[in-house]
Amino acid sequence: VQKIGVLTSGGDAPGMNAAVRAVVRAALSKNIEVFGVYDGYLGLYNNKIKQLKRHDVSDMINRGGTFLGSARFPEFKEESIRAKAIENLKEHEIEALVVIGGDGSYMGAKKLTEMGYPCIGLPGTIDNDIAGTDYTIGFHTALNTVLDAIDRLRDTCSSHNRISIVEIMGRYCGDLTMMASIGGGAEFTVIPEKEFNQDDLIQSISADVKSGKKHAIIAITEHTTKVNKLAKKIEAETGLETRATILGHTQRGGAPVAFDRILASQMGAFAVELLLQGEGGRCVGVQSNKLVHHDIIDAIENMPRPFKEDIYNLTRILA
Ligand code: ATP
Repeated sequence: VQKIGVLTSGGDAPGMNAAVRAVVRAALSKNIEVFGVYDGYLGLYNNKIKQLKRHDVSDMINRGGTFLGSARFPEFKEESIRAKAIENLKEHEIEALVVIGGDGSYMGAKKLTEMGYPCIGLPGTIDNDIAGTDYTIGFHTALNTVLDAIDRLRDTCSSHNRISIVEIMGRYCGDLTMMASIGGGAEFTVIPEKEFNQDDLIQSISADVKSGKKHAIIAITEHTTKVNKLAKKIEAETGLETRATILGHTQRGGAPVAFDRILASQMGAFAVELLLQGEGGRCVGVQSNKLVHHDIIDAIENMPRPFKEDIYNLTRILA
């Protein structure tokens, strides 16, 4: 392999820059040229491809977001669009592509691989919702951001005898919510993996308030329920002021924490190693503290993500 490409796709995540930097620097150390594809699959289709030298990734290790840009480009599901993308890569004599993104981005990488173009996937998303890895790049940074928000809400909640609902990202994965709940000491945890019974939650909070509880934090994953409506119902039932805070995109920004920088650096260098060994169509993960790689098609189609039942139970035990 003499030339490889790298792109970031889907929702941005802190640590993506560190991953791109690692791909570039690890490849250059093996005399492989690297090309950056700007704006994800959209830029791949529009041929926004530029060679990256060592200094193009200087001062990137600590920066949030992705300097390569990212985009949603649903048209990439069409084979003719992907064929044009492959044509662009071949025009630059790029032989393989490293895709950093979430499960949607992995689907794109899988389809390119199926069309005979080798891709390596790196898990870059704050949601921690990708098969074949214990942690994704960006998850721990987002977790710290959420914890910081919960800490601040706790200060004001306890001063004002208020109930606080915190809506946390994660799409359909409750990892960010559960971990933040443990770290932030939330009283109630609502996640997509467990059936949500609104009446049970309200009854439980009411009982707590009747027995003297003056404030509480409820951590809820996005898409689970309408948090502002829920706040009104809880307030009506308990008589305690209740407010919902939707953390939104603040969770996606910020400088990556040490864990994400190191994970991204390890995974980026590992991706280059795999390409040198002639591997294509793989996705990289970390499992039980070891770097691993899986067939990208198998990971998407067959690999279940085990639910962290022990973590969920702990949120209840400690509440
Ligand atoms: P996150 O979950 O963090 O937002 P993601 O990678 O899952 O990241 P998506 O918007 O789902 O984000 O996917 C990113 C891009 O991947 C899409 O805009 C599209 O270009 C491509 N993609 C998604 N699904 C497919 C598919 N089935 N086939 C081909 N390409 C796809």
